[in-house]
Amino acid sequence: MRAGPLQDGRPPYLKAIVQSVILVVAMGYDAIIVGGGPAGSIAAMYLKRAGKKVLLVDKAKFPRDKVCGDAQGRKLATVMKDLGIYDDYRKLPGHPIFGLRLSSPNGVQIDMDLIDRATGTPGYIVRRMDLDHFLFSKAKKFGVQTLERTAVEEVLFSPEGSITGLQCRHLDTKQETTLTATVYLAADGADSVFAKKLGIKNPPEHFIVALRAYYKNVEGMGDLIEIHLLKKILPGYFWIFPLPNKEANVGIGMVIKDKNDKNINLVDELKAAIASNPLFTERFKGAELVGGIKAWNLPVASYRRPCTGPNYLLLGDAASLIDPLSGEGVGTAAISAKHAAATALQAMEKGPSRDLLAAYEQALWAEIGEEIKADYRIQRLGHRFPFLLNKLMSKAAKNQEFRKKFEAMLPYTEGKERIGAWRFVASLFF
Ligand SMILES: Cc1cc2nc3c(=O)[nH]c(=O)nc-3n(C[C@H](O)[C@H](O)[C@H](O)COP(=O)(O)OP(=O)(O)OC[C@H]3O[C@@H](n4cnc5c(N)ncnc54)[C@H](O)[C@@H]3O)c2cc1C
Repeated sequence: MRAGPLQDGRPPYLKAIVQSVILVVAMGYDAIIVGGGPAGSIAAMYLKRAGKKVLLVDKAKFPRDKVCGDAQGRKLATVMKDLGIYDDYRKLPGHPIFGLRLSSPNGVQIDMDLIDRATGTPGYIVRRMDLDHFLFSKAKKFGVQTLERTAVEEVLFSPEGSITGLQCRHLDTKQETTLTATVYLAADGADSVFAKKLGIKNPPEHFIVALRAYYKNVEGMGDLIEIHLLKKILPGYFWIFPLPNKEANVGIGMVIKDKNDKNINLVDELKAAIASNPLFTERFKGAELVGGIKAWNLPVASYRRPCTGPNYLLLGDAASLIDPLSGEGVGTAAISAKHAAATALQAMEKGPSRDLLAAYEQALWAEIGEEIKADYRIQRLGHRFPFLLNKLMSKAAKNQEFRKKFEAMLPYTEGKERIGAWRFVASLFF
């Protein structure tokens, strides 16, 4: 993988010849992973730990920002522990989380425990700028080869549907390269070039759009994440996730179909919540927006994408694995990376095949499927029967036993008994 940039001053015909010849074919990787976000960097670490020759390609230069709520839970923590990098992760600048503050559309607010303080692993709010740089750097330390500022522009397929190569371009030098490997892992996020090429796209009822803004000097935050169910954007929500020094990740998101149907402008809703909702006005009185308000899409796992082929696997957002209720996608990306790496290792030993790689999808969904299904049911209930949310919160505010049941259902909880959504709804009335 070399060849320098084209020299300025060459005659145009020579430039054209050099450009076409410069298609360097780099052979010999066991795996090429496209995307150095959590899914890609974690998969790279697993494969390198198993002694494989791995190339991790990203169009960005790290550290780079990723629009996100920055809330990390038990799923990511478990994978970090497995890779032996958890202690270093917890040294990143962040805010530990033990609970949840939830408010209903009619303004009832309750604080709940999510994690046992004595024995549990806390959640962690850590900027993706820091988290992703940490993971990408760790992958390098594991010995993974990396290419930054290198965009995969075209995925080449054989008539049988196997990937035969990736056409890449260095974004500064404009140098073109074709990369090949035994197995390809697509971890290139919500806008995945692989998913596009395969014609996979979520319908708008399985896509969330969300805004993220950083504020400083926000009052009244504790060691809990805040989710506020505002009437107009249900079953979406407004969030406040605390960062160190009274800074906060503040955002708002909703299902794209609902947003379009209701003709909602999310920037207006975010600003209105801060300026005029009685739950927040005092708390944001001295607050200041740091940087801009940024938007990004969340492909959610209520739509199950096919995520394997004869010699490739899709991971993280490229595989549409975000929890449709909580919006948690880093944890599921990490779990997908773990399973994808395990399956890819087998494929390297035995030779890749469609049947062999299908094991990834089965293992992944066996681990996350039940929670995704339950959370999607709650999301839809909130959509169809928003009055239930007011009822739920009023009951939880008054009834300790009911509140405990409610806590057990929440995403991000650790080691608690989960109950089915329908049984839970029945308990609202009886
Ligand atoms: C507003 C918002 C709030 C969210 N809040 C949370 C939250 O609080 N907690 C949580 O767990 N999840 C949250 N999510 C979801 C979470 O951000 C994603 O699920 C997560 O980033 C998925 O990780 P990934 O590695 O699959 O993809 P990404 O993190 O998107 O990484 C993909 C990488 O691929 C690279 N890439 C893309 N295309 C190419 C290409 N053609 N060639 C080379 N490289 C390429 C990109 O540069 C990027 O580095 C939120 C999402 C949004 C939009």
